[in-house]
This record gives sequence, structure tokens and C-alpha cells, in this order.
Amino acid sequence: MTNSNIPFLDLVTLHAELEGELCAILRSSLRTAAFVGGHTVETFEADFAKFCGTEYCVGVGSGTDALRFALISAGVAPDSIVITVPNTFIATAEAISQAGATPHFVDVDKRTYNMDPEQLREFLESKCAWDAIGKRTIHTATGKHVAAVVPVHLYGQMADMDAISELAEKYNLLVIEDACQAHGSQYFSERGQRWRTSGSIGKAAAFSFYPGKNLGACGEAGAITTNDPQLAKRARMLRDHGQSKKYYHDLEGYNGRLDSIQAGFLSVKLAHLATWNAQRQANAARYNELIGALADTIEPPYEPSWSRAVFHLYVVEVADRDAVQKLLGASGIGTGIHYPIPLHLQKAYEHLGYEPGAFPVTEKAAERIISLPMYPSLTAEQQERVVSALRTAVQSSNPDLALAANVK
Ligand SMILES: *Cc1c(COP(=O)(O)O)cnc(C)c1O
Repeated sequence: MTNSNIPFLDLVTLHAELEGELCAILRSSLRTAAFVGGHTVETFEADFAKFCGTEYCVGVGSGTDALRFALISAGVAPDSIVITVPNTFIATAEAISQAGATPHFVDVDKRTYNMDPEQLREFLESKCAWDAIGKRTIHTATGKHVAAVVPVHLYGQMADMDAISELAEKYNLLVIEDACQAHGSQYFSERGQRWRTSGSIGKAAAFSFYPGKNLGACGEAGAITTNDPQLAKRARMLRDHGQSKKYYHDLEGYNGRLDSIQAGFLSVKLAHLATWNAQRQANAARYNELIGALADTIEPPYEPSWSRAVFHLYVVEVADRDAVQKLLGASGIGTGIHYPIPLHLQKAYEHLGYEPGAFPVTEKAAERIISLPMYPSLTAEQQERVVSALRTAVQSSNPDLALAANVK
């Protein structure tokens, strides 16, 4: 046993292994000076679309760009309402606001931490009315059009997409997947009787290639996937100042292109993604097994039978989370909290008018969740040390348990 620290995330090992290939990309970019656009970007887009099982992929500057452009390209108009969850990274809600819409939150399922379709149903049934002429759903209190729903595939596990898609069809809502944490995760669709990959179910999906994601660039990058050629075309224009051709701006867009060097790096890494995801899944299975005996004090992640998660994060629940996190830190084990403050309680969203208690499942989870080290190169020995330190931390942060342990 070594006593070296176990980082929450290790990006160094992975890049050391790929250094030769990544440097070759950089060298060829310098020699051709093709830094924006070109075939490197197109090649990556084609390969990533294939990986997700979609017709189109549009590379953009970040996951936030991807969400914003996907919403606008799908036709979410200013002044409408877009439904999402409060326990996500703020970019999900930022993209909704920046598309001109208002985020409306619904609570999550307490076991998967993903959108609870029953909460979605309840909002649509009790707070909205059907406009039979416009064939659309109207939020009764504000008179606004409820245009879309953004399920977030949090921690690498997909939301319950059959249930969400059925409601979206009934109420005529667009579904835009936030797949920023879920590259390659799968969902068994009863409706389609097959496994479907994240990013291929909604009208469009957004991916982030932020360095720490399962597929990460060496900088900022993101992508939209879709089967809709018009949506893909609009997204291509939006990322490039609304140009249909050089200096012909059919609409006002953004500077949100995927950089060619990043696209080249991403192509190198995409070839490894399936292996890395399998390593994460094996690591998650090992954690589950090690935690198994402690399951009454440490709640491991729940994976429904319809899910094949890719464990972007491995999140457990404990009673005295802050104390446990501190004790793990003192043992040299890095952890994270995703996320400590739900979006409806963030200062930035005060104006939305939510009160504490509005989303009890999310709020309770925010106090109890802790993300353990998780990455492809994490070793069995490191995982044993993490769980052994976790066991000690849970016992010493909870006097009753410590007592029970001493009696034994
Ligand atoms: C990372 C992330 C984003 C944003 O991606 P960026 O590339 O950082 O802009 C959006 N949503 C979720 C759930 C994320 O984890």
C-alpha cells in the first residue's frame, strides 16, 4: 500500500499516454495553419455523429454554446418557458435564459437524481393549459408558451427518456437533451425496443468536451447532435455569425465554432472513449462491491435496468457529508460535490422567485451527496483505500456508528 494522495480527477496520466498522438495533431495544424474549420472539424463531427447514432453533429465552442444553439435552432422563441431540473450545472439554465426563455424547474427522482417524469407531468397537468388552436401548452399563471423540456443526463446516467418523450409528445414540447456528462451512455427504450445512445433521442442534444468530461478536449469545446437537417443547418449558421456564406448574414449569430486543433485532439481521444467508459463502468462496479457491506450508511448510485451509465461521476450519499468530505481530504482523498447549491437557490436566479423547500428531493440530496474519485486510470488499490477511508470517515462523523464499531 502506498500513501500517496488520490486525486478526485487525474487528467495527467491520460494525456501522458496520448502525448505522441496529440503532439502530431498540433504539429500538423501548425504546418497547415488551418486553425478554424476545415476537414479536421468535419471528420470529428462525422465520427461523433456515428458514435451517438445520429445523422448530424455540429461542433461548437463549448457545451453551453451547444445547449444555447440547440434551443434556438430547434425554435425555442424568446419569452417562452423551458422546463429543466434544479440539480445541474448552471450552464443548463444559462443556455435557456440566453436563448431568451425562462427556466422552470421540476424536481428529480431521489434515486437517479434525474428529472422525475411524475413531477414533469404534475406541472403540465396542474399548472398549464392546452391551447387547441395553437396546438401548444400555455403556462396558466404567466400566459407563456411552454416550448421545451431539457432533461439532464446527470453523472453519466440518462434520464427516463420514454416517460419524458411521451409527455413531450402529448403537450407538444421540444426535447433537448443535456448530454454534457453522458457521452456514450445508453437507455433501453421500451417504445423503440432497443438500446439508444444519449444524444440520439431528443430533437437535439448538447455535449460538452470540457477537459474533465468523459470525452474532453485540451481546452473548451462542445457539440450538438440531431437527426434534423434544418436544425443542424441553423446551428451551423448560429455558431458562425449567422452566415449562410461568407459575409451573407441571414441571421444574427455568435462566434461559437469548434477550433480545429481541439477537433483533432477530440478525434484522437474519441477512438479511446468506449474503452475509457468501460473502465469507468468496471470501476463503478468495484466501488459498488466495496461499498456493498456498508450500504446502510453509504448509499451507492442506483442504476435502473434500462440504464447503462458511463459514470462521469460516482456519487454516494452519506449523512454528515461535510464532515465526511473533510475527513477524506485529511486522508489525502480528493472529492467533489455536484452540486452543493441547487440552481433555484442560487443568487443568480433570485429573480425566478423560488423559495427554499420548493424542490425537497434536490435540496436534501445537495446536503448528502459526495462524488468519489472516478476516472479510467483509477486502480483497484486506490478504490480500496477510498472506501476504507470512507468507512472510517462515516463512522467517526457519526458517534452512534463509532460506538457500534467500538463495541464490535
Ligand atoms: C459541463 C456541463 C455543461 C456545460 O459545458 P461547458 O462545455 O462547460 O460549457 C452543461 N451542462 C452540464 C450538465 C454540464 O456538466
